[in-house]
Amino acid sequence: MWVEGMTLPKVIEEARILSHETPITGVDILTLAAPMIAHTALPGQFVQVSVPADTGFLRRPLGIAEVSRTDGWIRLIYRQVGHGTKGLAEEETGAFVSVLGPLGNGFDTALRHPLLVGGGMGLTPLLFFAAEHPHVSVLMGGRTKEEVFWEEIYRPHVSECFITTDDGSYGAQGFVTTLLPTLLRDGDYDGVAVCGPSVMMERVAAVAAQYNIPCEVSLERRMACGLGACLSCAVDTKSGRRKVCKDGPVFPAAEVYGDG
Ligand SMILES: Cc1cc2nc3c(=O)[nH]c(=O)nc-3n(C[C@H](O)[C@H](O)[C@H](O)COP(=O)(O)OP(=O)(O)OC[C@H]3O[C@@H](n4cnc5c(N)ncnc54)[C@H](O)[C@@H]3O)c2cc1C
Repeated sequence: MWVEGMTLPKVIEEARILSHETPITGVDILTLAAPMIAHTALPGQFVQVSVPADTGFLRRPLGIAEVSRTDGWIRLIYRQVGHGTKGLAEEETGAFVSVLGPLGNGFDTALRHPLLVGGGMGLTPLLFFAAEHPHVSVLMGGRTKEEVFWEEIYRPHVSECFITTDDGSYGAQGFVTTLLPTLLRDGDYDGVAVCGPSVMMERVAAVAAQYNIPCEVSLERRMACGLGACLSCAVDTKSGRRKVCKDGPVFPAAEVYGDG
């Protein structure tokens, strides 16, 4: 039995790849049979995934994009950036990868109408939030129309979907912060959850603070163990040094940015 305050178990599962899709070049969607992680994972948490031995020794942290608790799978969406993620992208359906999780803390999902703000691969953990919440809206930003392939994935889960592209090839031209002030002024959002490039998160947090709307950010740091032991992902917060892997990756924006 789990009681408030008790840490949920972290497990390692040898997870079979159930499907491997590539929505755009360089981005992969892996669906993995991992029933124990699927059962306990919360939106905002992540897993540490093993990569082929010749591409890296350490596991790589990836946000949990979706789960099916009944069918026992988790979904990961990631961009190939270096040896590890490129090696993982070579794995085919039916292969096994070792997955440690669920790790870290999650977003506050007890909001009436949250606005999720995501840029690029930051839309991964927010998707899990959207899929679990009955009334949520999303503001997504990408460099080009191709980069907001996310729209199709999010649509079934959200009440509203707002899109910006840097080059104006789709949605409103500009950054998510181009639309955000109007949305927060005219909408009925009682919280903002943001994940993406750090400069974007800081700017979104500043706008949310102007409108007195609580904001949570999901930080990304290089990390090794993912369990709070190695301290490689420690960051300074208003309440002292915190480990992104264990105390985060989700933090109140006011804890990590400016005067908010
Ligand atoms: C909690 C958390 C959740 C994440 N979730 C996702 C996700 O859902 N989808 C996704 O595409 N990416 C995600 N990332 C980033 C992902 O972990 C890195 O892109 C990946 O580890 C790179 O490994 P690599 O072997 O391919 O690259 P490396 O060869 O190790 O490095 C290539 C480049 O990636 C950068 N990098 C390496 N490790 C990290 C890291 N831990 N964080 C940030 N940058 C890194 C390096 O600085 C370098 O520029 C997440 C990171 C964290 C910390």
